[in-house]
Amino acid sequence: PIQLSDTQYNVMIGSQLLEQAGALISPILSQKKVFIIADENVAALHLQTLTDSLSHAQIHYETILIPPGENTKSFKHFERVINQLLEKNIERKTPIIALGGGVTGDLSGFAAASVLRGVPFIQIPTTLLSQVDSSVGGKTGINTSIGKNLVGAFYQPQIVIADTQTLDTLPHRELVAGYAEIVKAGLIDDPELFQWCEENGQKILSKDHQYIDEAVERACAFKARIIKNDEFEQSSKGRNLLNLGHSLGHTLEAELEYDGRILHGEAVALGCCLIFKLCTRLGLCPSEDTSRVLKHFKSVGLPTSIKDLNSPMKATNLLRHLQHDKKVKDGKLLFILVNGIGKTFTSQEVNEKDLYKLLIEDGCI
Ligand code: NAD
Ligand code: ZN
Repeated sequence: PIQLSDTQYNVMIGSQLLEQAGALISPILSQKKVFIIADENVAALHLQTLTDSLSHAQIHYETILIPPGENTKSFKHFERVINQLLEKNIERKTPIIALGGGVTGDLSGFAAASVLRGVPFIQIPTTLLSQVDSSVGGKTGINTSIGKNLVGAFYQPQIVIADTQTLDTLPHRELVAGYAEIVKAGLIDDPELFQWCEENGQKILSKDHQYIDEAVERACAFKARIIKNDEFEQSSKGRNLLNLGHSLGHTLEAELEYDGRILHGEAVALGCCLIFKLCTRLGLCPSEDTSRVLKHFKSVGLPTSIKDLNSPMKATNLLRHLQHDKKVKDGKLLFILVNGIGKTFTSQEVNEKDLYKLLIEDGCI
């Protein structure tokens, strides 16, 4: 259960839940009709299972397909989706189901929040990243040419159905990228989770279902705990901490034009590594902790240094992008820093010169 001040919903985690989706959502429907939004890859693999289960529960559906990839989180596709919903006569009580990864979830959730000023929303995440992170918590939105996730809404789903068996078809690189967000959760304030990842990460990445289910459950429980008291990211000690590694990560994604050269989870892993390196340089974090973090990310094939990207990166460009991230207050960069594994805090004191030096030493030009 996700408990918030004026709402609560369940995150269902397990195998073969997609087959039961119709029955699972029936009790929360006020009419027997839904819209499904799915990207083309996911539709080819998993849409039939969902529609069979809806038909079985006598729920009518319409489907809207979107192209796969981060570039779909755009005004252009947002407008296309909204127009299709309206052309197909969506009503205020008709839920939208997002079937897919974080891109589908973020775009569909924002469409659900805005069309007719809000229709019910259901998340059926099919990537590890969306099951452990993006489907839970109610952040929805799109990117703009200025930066990532800069337009959106807090809009909670009514239920999240995470069928871990859908991950069987997920490409390995996507699985590893999603895994980075689980490790990030441990780094933020759950050192036990980080240690569990060190011990069991390989089992998750070889798709051992027992470990995948446990990882999704642990990560969702962690997120539920963090957002419970800070649904709208108002506190510097709450939800904000979930952004560890994200400011730098987002600038790397933006710099590489969201074209798949770096995946969100990969950018987050590298962003976390840069923060640990920075904090060790500033005397805030023991070097043993930083080594442990780099070693673990490296062991699963995630980037730990700008050099791993094999694309030239200009430090000045990255710093310029950083200014457009949401984490700026009174013109100063707000950073999530670390005193060690599981010890994060928000600081407004990061000096651009220190960042520049770090980026150059790490491989930027
Ligand atoms: P994604 O949605 O692009 O999915 C990754 C790829 O996997 C796509 O090509 C997709 O078609 C494919 N795919 C999805 N499920 C599949 C399956 N079961 N089998 C085979 N292929 C499958 O990416 P993602 O990593 O899931 O999500 C990344 C996005 O999530 C980013 O835009 C990021 O900003 C966002 N995000 C949001 C939040 C939040 O709180 N809202 C949190 C973290 C990340
Ligand atoms: Zn993220």
